[in-house]
Amino acid sequence: MLSNLSKTQVDRKCPKCGCAEVVRSQRIDLTDRMLSLINVYPYRCQKHTCKNRFESFGKA
Ligand SMILES: [Zn+2]
Repeated sequence: MLSNLSKTQVDRKCPKCGCAEVVRSQRIDLTDRMLSLINVYPYRCQKHTCKNRFESFGKA
């Protein structure tokens, strides 16, 4: 139902399972703050069997 919206976003997938359903992680620690200075942000895979946390360039 939101396919048109998601297609306008950057193609960002979980590096572990390849799932495209990833969201910005809300947990901001010191490392996250440092990485945000170089445009790298934490993401979390929404696949309930994975839940992998990773960093990716840019905001979605
Ligand atoms: Zn995943």
